[in-house]
Amino acid sequence: MTYDVIIVGSGPAAMTAAIYCQRFLLKTVMVAGRLWGGQLQNTTEVENFPGMGVILGPKLLKRMRSHVEHLGVEILDMWAEKIHHLSYPFQVVLEQGKTITGKSIIIATGADTKWLGVPNEERLRGKGVSACAPCDAFFFRGKPVAVVGGGDTAMEEAQVIANVASDVILIHRRDEFRAQSAMVEKVKVKKNVRFLYNTKVVDVVGEQSLTGLLLETTSISPKQGVASFDDLVQSFGGEKKTGIQWVLPRAGVFVAIGLSPNTKFLEGFAVDERGYLKRFEERDEHGNLLYFTKTNIPGIFTAGDVHDTRYKQAITAAGFGCMAALDVQKWLGDQDNN
Ligand code: NAP
Repeated sequence: MTYDVIIVGSGPAAMTAAIYCQRFLLKTVMVAGRLWGGQLQNTTEVENFPGMGVILGPKLLKRMRSHVEHLGVEILDMWAEKIHHLSYPFQVVLEQGKTITGKSIIIATGADTKWLGVPNEERLRGKGVSACAPCDAFFFRGKPVAVVGGGDTAMEEAQVIANVASDVILIHRRDEFRAQSAMVEKVKVKKNVRFLYNTKVVDVVGEQSLTGLLLETTSISPKQGVASFDDLVQSFGGEKKTGIQWVLPRAGVFVAIGLSPNTKFLEGFAVDERGYLKRFEERDEHGNLLYFTKTNIPGIFTAGDVHDTRYKQAITAAGFGCMAALDVQKWLGDQDNN
């Protein structure tokens, strides 16, 4: 059996694409992965998805999945390992060698945590180094922790962990945050959170588990309220190593420095220098838009954070999912008419 469309992924982009494709009466299958749902599974309160008020990320995902299931979309909770795009219909190879075929594909595999890449990070992962405060908060009750990053995720992580940790230091490499002001304000009101600016993490320290962070503070921000590097180190209870490096004692660190797109399993697809799937808008001879979400392979489209280097919101991912489904419907129709 050949599907009309295979959707790879299971976040808001994939879910929305599935809803639209199914309603276009296309024979649709979603390859959801074994850990379905993507980043929203690790998100706490979502306050900016219209119509949802304040809702937990996993709950929003469950609602999306119920909607998709209710419409009758087949969902496979398996990883996609390969896409064969040189033959047609396309083939998607799943775990254990199972293969499914489809006339079109939407790649909506999202993006995962980006790690710091410092020497001892991998060794201490799960031993003090984490990327999910809602998942791991329990282990840090009453302990001092750090959060690294300056975006919305860092603010969200800081907010969550501040409720259980003894104190939180949010470390950012600049002294301006990328995060939305509303999210920064929510962290600022937490009495046990302090900000450390213009500082990067050089390494994580500890034998059996994390005991501290080796930091490098390159300039003292006026926001820091100290006169010198020595004062800064002292005010955070750190230990000076060199003129710019010092160790901050911490029992846990939450890495929240952005995302890395899930494209490693793709071969023969055009990606940018950071691995994001490239989108190739196609227009007719009059300049009218034909397809917005096309990849470099005709018949294979993309949606959501796997290609989105800019917006990366649940709602924009859902919007891209809708566009990809509309493009698939048109593309399949165009093939039938040719
Ligand atoms: P992001 O917006 O890309 O921010 C990443 C942050 O980490 C930036 O402040 C960046 O510093 C810093 N950073 C990047 N690489 C680093 C490195 N190697 N070392 C130290 N710091 C590094 O990522 P995000 O916060 O994960 O958010 C991703 C997207 O999801 C955003 O569009 C965000 O709006 C969205 N989001 C929304 C919500 C919500 O609305 N509830 C919640 C979470 C995320 P620079 O600023 O210097 O580049």
